Amino acid sequence: MRRAYKKTISFLRTTGYCLRTKVDCIFCKIAKKEVSSNVVYEDDQVMAFEDIKPSAPVHYLIVPKEHIQSIAHLEGNHRDILSKIIYAAKDLANKFGLKGYKLVFNVGKEGGQVIDHLHLHLLGGWNNKKDIEAVPHPGLDK
Ligand code: AMP
Ligand code: ZN
Repeated sequence: MRRAYKKTISFLRTTGYCLRTKVDCIFCKIAKKEVSSNVVYEDDQVMAFEDIKPSAPVHYLIVPKEHIQSIAHLEGNHRDILSKIIYAAKDLANKFGLKGYKLVFNVGKEGGQVIDHLHLHLLGGWNNKKDIEAVPHPGLDK
């Protein structure tokens, strides 16, 4: 019985059904290609696509295909996928010639997270001196 329950939960997660909110998840739909996006990277576990409302000249989101709500919801078996997300960001930065960049996880609504599907923001593309000086800097911007 318990095994069947676990299997059902696991299946629901792969379909994009969010167990917490009981609503469909936009990033799950993007991962399943039910909603279009400009995909810049994809493998069996991870997808990266352009942010629809960029906050920087280059702004990609790297997400697990599996529905994980946030960094706060990671479990022991997610170590590998989290590592893949970070390496995907590094490889994308190299591919698109970003010399420097920011990697940001917003966690929970108190941390500014709006979409409840774990995602890593890759922000960059500030190239000239004026833009570099204006790069938002957590801890210094008051
Ligand atoms: P966060 O505030 O960390 O949850 O960031 C969510 C990000 O998802 C924001 O930067 C949004 O612009 C972006 N976003 C929301 N919907 C879409 C979408 N359909 N395609 C691409 N990016 C999206
Ligand atoms: Zn999702």
